[in-house]
Amino acid sequence: MQRQALGWRQAGSRVVLVPTMGALHDGHRSLISLARKKVKKDGVVVVSIYVNPVQFNDPQDLDNYPRTLSLDKKICREESVDIVFAPNNLYKKDESVEVKEDNLTTRLEGVHRPGHFTGVMTVVAKLFNLVLPDFSVFGEKDFQQVAVIRRMVRDMNYPISILVGPTLREVDGLAMSSRNVLLTGDLRGQATVLSRAIELSRQSIGSRSVYLKRRLRRFIEKQPDAQVDYIEFVDTINLNPIKTVNKGSRILLAAKIGPVRLIDNGLL
Ligand code: AMP
Repeated sequence: MQRQALGWRQAGSRVVLVPTMGALHDGHRSLISLARKKVKKDGVVVVSIYVNPVQFNDPQDLDNYPRTLSLDKKICREESVDIVFAPNNLYKKDESVEVKEDNLTTRLEGVHRPGHFTGVMTVVAKLFNLVLPDFSVFGEKDFQQVAVIRRMVRDMNYPISILVGPTLREVDGLAMSSRNVLLTGDLRGQATVLSRAIELSRQSIGSRSVYLKRRLRRFIEKQPDAQVDYIEFVDTINLNPIKTVNKGSRILLAAKIGPVRLIDNGLL
């Protein structure tokens, strides 16, 4: 991969990377089309597909994660992706270096999924060094991840511009996610409660965060199989919690719907 990427560099091509874990859906498609728009038809669009084991804190989650490589390749072909980079393994047995961040990752997902962001940053750093892209595209669906990657790029001086695509949703509001296929039976219907909670918070501008969080937790947990991990109202720039819910702030939330852990977020 790196030899190929060095060739592109020498030829002066612009390269854009869309990192994914596969099981591609329309949300991924939208990031790919953003990538293509950025580098036009002469640029190189690389989609990486790699279920990164070190970012899974729950072995069950890693085992159950959907893997659909041949379908993914078909989607990439339809979207005129130039290269699908789908390595079997990116780690040596005795690997002893990782990328760690000490501020933005100490909250929210970082608290509930210990080691997750270190795994994400380490694999994204590897992908950046292998693909040598000028741009890399991430989804706003993983809002904290975008903040963490931007911080890594800033602090480690990666010469890469980060582009962010909006969250694509199903018609009933559920944010598209590779994990949605695991929502069997009536779990699929219950899962819409997350986006409905975001909508509810939009109607509650001016509320004190503590009260609204309590109310939303009750609202979500009215679903028989829903259990909230966290609900937080944050400043969009630094992800610090805010006391009063105001326009321009963001709600970030995570909940388990049966065995499936989902996250979502929205601008207020
Ligand atoms: P994943 O394959 O889940 O690791 O996601 C790969 C990229 O797609 C990440 O940058 C995600 O934020 C992004 N993504 C996931 N779901 C969506 C969605 N519903 N809309 C837009 N982007 C998404």
